[in-house]
Amino acid sequence: MEDQQFREEVRSFLEGTLTDAMRQAALQGFGVDRSVGTAWHRALYERGWIAPGWPVEHGGTGWTLNQQHIFDTELALAGAPMLMPFGLQMVGPVLYTFGSEAQQRQHLPGILDGSVWWCQGYSEPGSGSDLASLKTAAVRDGDDYVVNGQKIWTTNAHKADWIFCLVRTDNSAKPQRGISFLLIDMKSPGIEVRPIISIDGLHHLNEVYFTDVRVPVSNRIGEENQGWTYAKFLLGHERTSIADVAGSKRNLASLSRVAQQEVPDGTGASLADDAAFATRLRDTTIKLEALESLEARVLAEFARGGTPGDAASLLKVLGTEMMQAIELLRVEAAAYYALPFETALIAGQSHTPPPGPEFALRAVSSYNFGRAHTIYGGSNEIQRNVIAKAVLGL
Ligand SMILES: Cc1cc2nc3c(=O)[nH]c(=O)nc-3n(C[C@H](O)[C@H](O)[C@H](O)COP(=O)(O)OP(=O)(O)OC[C@H]3O[C@@H](n4cnc5c(N)ncnc54)[C@H](O)[C@@H]3O)c2cc1C
Repeated sequence: MEDQQFREEVRSFLEGTLTDAMRQAALQGFGVDRSVGTAWHRALYERGWIAPGWPVEHGGTGWTLNQQHIFDTELALAGAPMLMPFGLQMVGPVLYTFGSEAQQRQHLPGILDGSVWWCQGYSEPGSGSDLASLKTAAVRDGDDYVVNGQKIWTTNAHKADWIFCLVRTDNSAKPQRGISFLLIDMKSPGIEVRPIISIDGLHHLNEVYFTDVRVPVSNRIGEENQGWTYAKFLLGHERTSIADVAGSKRNLASLSRVAQQEVPDGTGASLADDAAFATRLRDTTIKLEALESLEARVLAEFARGGTPGDAASLLKVLGTEMMQAIELLRVEAAAYYALPFETALIAGQSHTPPPGPEFALRAVSSYNFGRAHTIYGGSNEIQRNVIAKAVLGL
């Protein structure tokens, strides 16, 4: 009963708060316009619901796992835009776990109220899966580090105020032992951001170049050369959030509704009458339910104050494969209607949608960009290696 009441409370908040502009922005994922993204972020912040997973003393809600699950699901089903994960789900937990009091005072309020956007400077050309080989160097000079090097695939670097970066502070040690974790102001002289346009036609990825960028030593998280520990802690949180089980529930629910509708070919049939399509839809639905249980296990581990470790790798693999399976079904369901939009998009023409059912919009571009789900946050092949070693003992 309490859960039902809570669900009603979340629903009435969503009805009163989510605007059409916000729902439209949700279609853009990481490409969300900063002003709309921030408006949604602030609405949650003002309601006290911006960081359910954080400890209460740092702004968390203290919800039960069930409440958190209800909240995530209701937001996804209502079509709420994604919240940028770099502050709330990545550097935020690192700050409240390993950051100094001064760092927490400086950064946590801006992450919570959405006024400060972050990006993640981990990957480099040649150092993605083999992240510990990263070369961006930070050399001590008085009270500063001087940073030189390059990051790549930096999502939203062009919109971010700060970047959290892995840098090399010791070349002589084992690769993992010579890395430090720095917080760098994106306005620092010597930072250059260059765009990468991805296969969905949007700009959310970048290269970030550092030339003699001075970063106060006080911006280092924890100990020098211990950055790998904080980096791995962050990746556990990142992998859990990437799985986006609630988003898959929304997308599958909308696909199921479409499958019940009449196909506009005059025969009166629907996709649900197609035995092969219906079987795949049911199969995907069952797998999604199993995935929800796995997610609950991982969240329970977080709630107990533990780190989900290998289960986060499992969740990342299964969650991202689920996203791709649903994106493929959506393209197949949209069939002919999915094509004109993508052609216009790739040609860089207007984004005016072609005639056709609404669910077909962006079906192909989402499918195309969705190839990346199994790459970012550590590729699924690497996660399978982790599972093979740590879970199966191979
Ligand atoms: C859309 C998108 C957004 C991203 N956003 C960010 C971001 O904001 N910040 C950031 O720091 N990074 C970001 N990344 C980078 C991402 O983390 C890396 O792309 C990823 O870790 C893979 O590294 P790589 O691209 O260097 O590929 P590589 O490491 O070169 O891998 C190439 C292929 O080889 C496979 N492979 C490599 N090593 C092994 C192995 N040992 N065993 C089996 N297979 C292996 C990989 O699985 C992959 O299929 C993003 C990437 C994408 C695509």
